[in-house]
Amino acid sequence: MSQIKVTPLGAGQDVGRSCILLTIGGKNIMLDCGMHMGFNDDRRFPDFSFIAQGSLNQHLSCVIISHFHLDHCGALPYMTEMVGYNGPIYMTMPTKAICPILLEDYRRITVDKKGETNFFTSTMVKDCMKKVTTVGLHETVQVDDELEIKTYYAGHVLGAAMFLIKVGSQSVVYTGDFNTTPDRHLGAAWIDKCRPDLLITESTYATTIRDSKRCRERDFLTKVHDCVEKGGKVLIPVFALGRAQEMCILLETYWERMNLKIPIYFAVGLTEKATTFYKMFITWTNQKIKQTFVHRNMFDFKHIKPFDRAYVDNPGPMVVFATPGMLHSGLSVQIFRKWAPNENNMLIMPGYCVAGTVGHKVISGAKKIEFENRQIVEVKMSVQYMSFSAHADAKGIMQLIQHCEPSKVLLVHGEASKMEFLKKKINQELGTSCKECFMPANGETVSFSTPVSVPVDTSLSLVKKQLFQEGGTNFI
Ligand SMILES: [Zn+2]
Repeated sequence: MSQIKVTPLGAGQDVGRSCILLTIGGKNIMLDCGMHMGFNDDRRFPDFSFIAQGSLNQHLSCVIISHFHLDHCGALPYMTEMVGYNGPIYMTMPTKAICPILLEDYRRITVDKKGETNFFTSTMVKDCMKKVTTVGLHETVQVDDELEIKTYYAGHVLGAAMFLIKVGSQSVVYTGDFNTTPDRHLGAAWIDKCRPDLLITESTYATTIRDSKRCRERDFLTKVHDCVEKGGKVLIPVFALGRAQEMCILLETYWERMNLKIPIYFAVGLTEKATTFYKMFITWTNQKIKQTFVHRNMFDFKHIKPFDRAYVDNPGPMVVFATPGMLHSGLSVQIFRKWAPNENNMLIMPGYCVAGTVGHKVISGAKKIEFENRQIVEVKMSVQYMSFSAHADAKGIMQLIQHCEPSKVLLVHGEASKMEFLKKKINQELGTSCKECFMPANGETVSFSTPVSVPVDTSLSLVKKQLFQEGGTNFI
């Protein structure tokens, strides 16, 4: 049983549909159960028949969900309610609170708006969440007699966690998505020097070394200001929670300082809920927020007002934050369709976009986007990609590996070419401690043996005597 095996069912040399099958000490564990936002067919969910034909229950010890983003938890109701998995599911409390809201929001768009069938229902989302067990920060949970999991702080989004998984002397760390730089509302990822046999890490920004935060923020504010000053409209597609709050705080402070009167709207619909969550789960935020919350509501903005759909056609400049972040559906894409043909307007993409989404096409320079109903939208607006994303950059990933000291590393959640780059870097810079770096594609299995450690019960004096006889006294 000294084998460790890993097969990505999603996020293998790809971003989206994170779902990694881990075998450790003879136990099968599923790491994340995500949905791919770039597909509308079967490929959007992981192919569970890889694990077993029929019931999954005997074949899985547990499912671990790292955070609430849909590419990490979006297939969970499908797995429990439609495929029929009934075993344990673990996630942190904030993830359990926020995940069903995002799932329901996505279901509403997919089923009610796009009219797709063969998708989970609202009842299924609720029933699925009832099966979830929550884990606290730094809490160790005994899944069964042999399998133990422990959570660590991952930054990234509220409630995001890294997991240490242990069976006997074998251990694996799964980072999920993480951020090593603290921001305006979250702290930095942190883990023990736990020296696992394997570290499974995300590699979204494996080739990026980010410029300083201050430069990026100044650049963002200048671009927004220039555009609205010329009478243009700025659209910022965001995820409901996370970067949205971060960028709102930035703009609010700038508008106040520059005494600007141009309207800023926040159209994510989850504002009040977001505030409640940040209050409820304040231990998962950073120190500054913990302090300011005592005095005022962080989202009580003076310059940022709730958005109404009717404002889209208003003349004159404005700034609008709208969900979802990858322009794959919903309000952000509706606004985009209206504003894209005007060269005075600007689109600011603050985060990573999965291949197949409108966001990804636009960032890649597409000047014409075709929609479902064959309507073609010309993109004349200026498109700015700014990495406000809450993922670790190459430096951050290297720091985590260095600190954690795994024997081997396995890269997921990144593009193949970027993984190659990081793999080389790991081999060159950390090759003495980290012996191997893997980057399996979806469906490809990596397996290796770990040294078997046999506990020996003996007295220290006996060991000393033995070593003395062998002439090896220096060891003790
Ligand atoms: Zn994420």
